[in-house]
Amino acid sequence: MPPKIKNLLWRCARNVLPVRDNLRSKRVWIGRGCPMCGYMVETLEHLFCDCVFGEGVWGAVNVLQGRDFASFLTHVIGRLSVEEAWTLAAVFWTIWTARNDVVWHNKIPERVNASEQMLRLQLTWKEAYAVQRPTVRHAPEWISPPCYTVKCNVDAALSGEGASFGAVVRDHNGGFVAAKSGQMDGVVDPYMAEALGVKEALTWLKAQHHKTYGVLVFPMSREQRTVWLMSIARDIWSVSVSHVKRTANCVAHGIARATGSLAASGVWFDIPPACIVNYFNQ
Ligand SMILES: [Zn+2]
Repeated sequence: MPPKIKNLLWRCARNVLPVRDNLRSKRVWIGRGCPMCGYMVETLEHLFCDCVFGEGVWGAVNVLQGRDFASFLTHVIGRLSVEEAWTLAAVFWTIWTARNDVVWHNKIPERVNASEQMLRLQLTWKEAYAVQRPTVRHAPEWISPPCYTVKCNVDAALSGEGASFGAVVRDHNGGFVAAKSGQMDGVVDPYMAEALGVKEALTWLKAQHHKTYGVLVFPMSREQRTVWLMSIARDIWSVSVSHVKRTANCVAHGIARATGSLAASGVWFDIPPACIVNYFNQ
């Protein structure tokens, strides 16, 4: 299924989807009422399982059957068949888009349309799943920056209550120049973690006073964050920022992951830390 659907499920599992009750806990007060039924508090549990609109899309009542929302998700996604996980994903996506149509476009939700949309989604995924399984695409690899420039790969990893980041600077031969890793407390959103990781890396690089041209690479594609980060980057030196696939970013990923599990932060120059030493032939 498409990444946007996986992202929705992931945000549900982490309870970070901006339903009104979650916004209230972030001190954004726009009322707590469910936009679909107008009766109950809009929690994830209510919106996706208990609301009359949701029950209509499921075609069932008492969806949770006494379970809390988290164990319901674990049960369906973790233990049942692929088809059942697809159904859950299609129902969630259908409810979430109908809910956003109500909130942002004042559109009256129609259960018939919703059920049709749900079936269509499942059919599309099934077809895509059947067709795409055997194709193995060549994974992109790290590409060296132009001569006399450095490239800094940045990545973030989520762990327990917070996030960690790792930044690795290499020269145009791919040789290790420097690395930095650190913790970011209280960050639970992966996009925010990546954005803050890049911000940390930029701040660190700025403090090094490297009078050189740099190429910065990090796993993020959204325009707004790029603009925000470019405004920090602008007064360092000539910097270009781009998104790369994870396979081309493994060294930064490795250090970010190790930092999360070891709860250790650090800065290294000339000799890479043990957790990423295998990436360098030194
Ligand atoms: Zn409701």
